[in-house]
Amino acid sequence: MRSLCVHTFVFVWGVYNDEHGGRATFIRVIRSNPTTADWPAPVGAAMNRETENRGRWDMRSYQFDKYGEPLRAVEAETPAPAGRQVLVRVEACGVCHSDIHLWDGYFDLGDDRKADLSRSHSLPLTLGHEIVGEVAALGDQASGVNVGDKAVVYPWIGCGDCGACHSGGDHLCPRPHALGVNADGGYADHVMVPDARFLYAYGDVDTALACTYACSGITAYGALKKVRGRAEGRSLLIIGAGGVGLAGLMIAQAMMDTTIIVADIDEAKLATAKAAGADHVINPTADGARKELIGLTGGGANGAVDFVGSDKSAGFGMQALANGGMLIVVGLFGGSLKLSVPLLPLKNIMLGGSYVGSPEEMRELMDLVVAGKVKPLPVATRPLAEADQTLRDLRDGKIVGRMVLTP
Ligand SMILES: [Zn+2]
Ligand SMILES: [Zn+2]
Repeated sequence: MRSLCVHTFVFVWGVYNDEHGGRATFIRVIRSNPTTADWPAPVGAAMNRETENRGRWDMRSYQFDKYGEPLRAVEAETPAPAGRQVLVRVEACGVCHSDIHLWDGYFDLGDDRKADLSRSHSLPLTLGHEIVGEVAALGDQASGVNVGDKAVVYPWIGCGDCGACHSGGDHLCPRPHALGVNADGGYADHVMVPDARFLYAYGDVDTALACTYACSGITAYGALKKVRGRAEGRSLLIIGAGGVGLAGLMIAQAMMDTTIIVADIDEAKLATAKAAGADHVINPTADGARKELIGLTGGGANGAVDFVGSDKSAGFGMQALANGGMLIVVGLFGGSLKLSVPLLPLKNIMLGGSYVGSPEEMRELMDLVVAGKVKPLPVATRPLAEADQTLRDLRDGKIVGRMVLTP
């Protein structure tokens, strides 16, 4: 992590007109005495060229200083990678619903309880964990990629020195350094990645689409992998046809042969899911919805993934399970579930959760994607300068599908 405490800073406030005609406040962070220890000389030729051509203040990030306050454009020196680090020039960064929770500083746990997220990072923070870009410079010990390589960034990076990390479970590390969560992420034109092993080639896939596999894609894949053994050849229930649920539908079709039923309370989303290949769609609020589902599946869903994560969606998922079925919750809407405990053994069912996925699972997913087996999800792009407005629009439910920011 960069050590900032030895420097003095001058903050210059102002307003700039960006290239898209928008206006935003910015802070220019001027480092008075950068040391070579903190800021080693650029290693890659591309970095040298960029530095010469673009001048000293060439990295722009969109950060927030206090929870819920507007994102501000911050200009600072582009950091140079050291050791195994890789500097990536960001080409696109997805806006994820969990960015709103991070921006708020908490998750709703239900029953008026909140999970405080403020201890997992310090402010200011640059959000953005769905990052794709081009390798701009390499630290002197970085290997496995070259300057100019295009890659999706796996953001769920761990400390690298605990049981979880040593067993390949970076995403389960208790001291995470996840980009855009605990460390600065991709709402910027550059991002520092600790190691080239977190970069994945994405072949001919559209750049704006490719970044979404780093969160919505890997989240869906990780959850689907857990239920695959039960759903394969039988039935899979996908609850929620928003961005991640729709990604789940595309990925499920690529990774298993099963009857897929998509449930959502929004008829427009159900129509989208049907067009995207769902075998059946169902509205849980409609009369007789559960009975219809039991009929469609011949006794209930064998595997189910809840991409909403509310008390209602998880409750519906539990009721929809066949004997021996499994429900995996990945959505983070919030709420608490009243559970009839004896039904767990009596129906031999499992309830679990899934959090993103491991680097190995990212590899498996990207292999499917590069092989052209995962149908593309529609994505829309906006300029990075509209990061703040985009978060607001997402919070207000004004964004349908996946929104991706491009610097
Ligand atoms: Zn996300
Ligand atoms: Zn760790």
